[in-house]
Amino acid sequence: MSDLVEKLVCDNVKALTPYESARRLFATGDDTQSQQVWLNANESPFHNAFQVDDSRFNRYPDCQPSGLIKAYAKYAGTGIEQTLVTRGADEGIELLIRTFCNPRTDSILICPPTYGMYAISAQTCDVAVKKVPLKDNFSLDVEAICQHKDQVKLVFVCSPNNPTGTSVEKQQLRSLVEHFANSALVVVDEAYIEFDKENTWATELSRYPNLVILRTLSKAYALAGLRCGFTLASSPIIKALLKVIAPYPIPEPVAQIAQQALTEAGVDNMLKQVDYLAIQRNKLHRYLKTIKQVELVGDDKANFILFRTPLKSQLMQFLVEHNVFIRDQSKQLNLNNCLRITVGNDQQNQHLMDLITSFYNTQEIA
Ligand SMILES: *Cc1c(COP(=O)(O)O)cnc(C)c1O
Repeated sequence: MSDLVEKLVCDNVKALTPYESARRLFATGDDTQSQQVWLNANESPFHNAFQVDDSRFNRYPDCQPSGLIKAYAKYAGTGIEQTLVTRGADEGIELLIRTFCNPRTDSILICPPTYGMYAISAQTCDVAVKKVPLKDNFSLDVEAICQHKDQVKLVFVCSPNNPTGTSVEKQQLRSLVEHFANSALVVVDEAYIEFDKENTWATELSRYPNLVILRTLSKAYALAGLRCGFTLASSPIIKALLKVIAPYPIPEPVAQIAQQALTEAGVDNMLKQVDYLAIQRNKLHRYLKTIKQVELVGDDKANFILFRTPLKSQLMQFLVEHNVFIRDQSKQLNLNNCLRITVGNDQQNQHLMDLITSFYNTQEIA
């Protein structure tokens, strides 16, 4: 940092370590090379085709494009007044913090190991982060969370959780939402809900005015490049968020493409791809179980698998040398020596399995 920037930059930003996105970690500048296999960001291996109509590109888009809101509300089973579209679920996280937390005064609560952006968004807003770790089996420590009543404004719960792949039990969530009914919003991040459909909380929205659900088109819908997510909540919450959101958060081409992804044909296509990925995930899971030095960790309710191996650094390095990228999760609480694999297509997964086999074979010989 230059002297001037050092002098001017906010204290909380100075202290901040930015999110190590999968992109930042392996930015080669040329990931279009076909020999590279990207299994590190829970992206979909599918790329679906879309059309754009440029006739409105000279106009500012609607803040909340009504066709898109209607399409997502229909898909999620919510009312349009309960549905907000954002620049990815990540913008939803930040909007919630900016709307409901006073800097330097309020706190959010998170349950590590979990998705990194809740804490980072809070830090960029100078909002404190309280942590209540998941239990050994990665279930929520509801009792410990409840002790923070009146001390936190937002409770973030990720289900299915990234990176443990575990889902939160409905009864646990119900206790939380009820316990915090008059003091905090409970935010359920359902980024991976399409892989665990029956566990959605969207159907409970009308019952709980303090419940918020985050969704995205980045995972099952195979549109991480689009940057499109949704926040579902009671209409007073949505109205408050609309005061803070940028005037034109959703570019016109994004709105058009997202709306196509949410047509009946688009949803059918997504569901087929989710079924395919579940089969692939189970195949990878069965394979990893056969490797002596690998211990599967957590559950597989999403499109990734978490495992522990004493040789995690060597395996990572071996895979990188062979242009296969997975994600190191070993810095997360209670996840020492853990790596996370995103489920790819059949060919990619097969390639990965072959590499893992040859890695452990050479280890045995050595
Ligand atoms: C990927 C992910 C997000 C971010 O979704 P975007 O819509 O791409 O911003 C949010 N939460 C979790 C748990 C995720 O894994």
